[in-house]
Amino acid sequence: MLELVNTPPLLLADYAPVAGEEAVAEIRRLAQPLRGARVLHVNATKFGGGVAEILPTLCGLMRDAGLDTEWRIIPGDEAFYNVTKALHNGLQGQPLSLDDRMRETYRRANEGFAQAFEGDYDFVVIHDPQPAALRMLRPDAGGHWIWRCHIDLTAANAEVWGFLRPAVEAYDAAIFTLPEYVQPDLQLDTLAYIPPSIDPISPKNAALDQSLADSIAYRFGVDPARPLLLQVSRFDPWKDPKGVIEVYRAVKREVPDVQLALVASMATDDPEGWQIYKDVLRFAGQDPDLSIVTNLDGVGAVEVNAFQRASEVVLQKSLREGFGLTVSEALWKGVPVVAGNVGGIPMQLGDTGGRLVSSIDEATAACLELLRDPELRRSLGEGGRERVRRHFLSTRNLRDYLALFTALRTGDRSLVPAGIEASGTTAGAAA
Ligand code: UDP
Repeated sequence: MLELVNTPPLLLADYAPVAGEEAVAEIRRLAQPLRGARVLHVNATKFGGGVAEILPTLCGLMRDAGLDTEWRIIPGDEAFYNVTKALHNGLQGQPLSLDDRMRETYRRANEGFAQAFEGDYDFVVIHDPQPAALRMLRPDAGGHWIWRCHIDLTAANAEVWGFLRPAVEAYDAAIFTLPEYVQPDLQLDTLAYIPPSIDPISPKNAALDQSLADSIAYRFGVDPARPLLLQVSRFDPWKDPKGVIEVYRAVKREVPDVQLALVASMATDDPEGWQIYKDVLRFAGQDPDLSIVTNLDGVGAVEVNAFQRASEVVLQKSLREGFGLTVSEALWKGVPVVAGNVGGIPMQLGDTGGRLVSSIDEATAACLELLRDPELRRSLGEGGRERVRRHFLSTRNLRDYLALFTALRTGDRSLVPAGIEASGTTAGAAA
């Protein structure tokens, strides 16, 4: 059987003070007819990256809502993850030719996962491309099968998408973060649009006293008396870590006491990360105002929380971004964000929250503008926090899943979530 990941018990009631009583009541109403349903989430890693961040909360809250929910991971090896990272990069637009060996590595690994798959579930949610072929290889398994795509497919490489498409078309439904990600040739009856979410009361996002946040950041070499720019991201070409360093250097010419922290975690399904980490260290050189720290230095959820709160401006200078949880995480703390105008980022900022940028020069100008204007930082941060509260908390994500499950079970297509702006199924009115 696929390895089970333990997730903490959570109480929906604890979310009412932040998400609102009504949001919690709606979840309970939707969950009532689904009580006892067996739900399985499958992804590639239990640590590192956005999916591993979302699933503990989603599973814990689904269980408290009465659904019997499990999270399991696939047992990939390095050769497999090298192929799936290449697939991921191809789907985000990198040129890539898939040779026979890569196709075979992917297929054979998925055959192993399919053989290991056991159990009876009412709803099986398979996350991202790594285990996507599971459904095609186990057409006999019961229940409604959903493929949940977390990546930015706006410029997907046609060959890579063509390879994945038959696997995706074996599902009953697919979830995308945005309608723009759906490839025009995809033939699937049910397409849902559900943005990801952050857990407002997890150790990463819960309230933390400013002086404690500052003293935690101080332990990692940050001077709380001077301005701090931050990017929290895996080492990945799409997160543009070198671009962030260039922005910092340009800002420093105008604001000499500015500091930069790059906080990164190493995901077990991301073999590319180590190479990029070394490149970034080399590119950063010796600079006492530039800190590069990882989970291996002891940066866990609370430390990320502290770094975000200790920052004047959070950067997310992505070149592609399925969603970018780090954007909502910073906004939730009232910290303005300067972020790439790509993928799921504009949806999070809305017309508040910070500045969308498309170049190093634009990012530099936006950081300078914000560093020089505390009142602007405060008002953008406050607007961003409210937008996150309305649209990007775990309760809205859970409600959308429950609505999709109900739609699949009853055939009532009006319940299929349609995204945050258009959908009547969102927490609160659309902004
Ligand atoms: N993250 C972390 N420590 C790090 C780097 C990242 O905990 O050193 C978390 C980050 O806070 C966020 C997630 O990993 O919750 C990354 O999700 P995102 O959607 O931003 O990007 P992905 O890695 O999925 O592309």
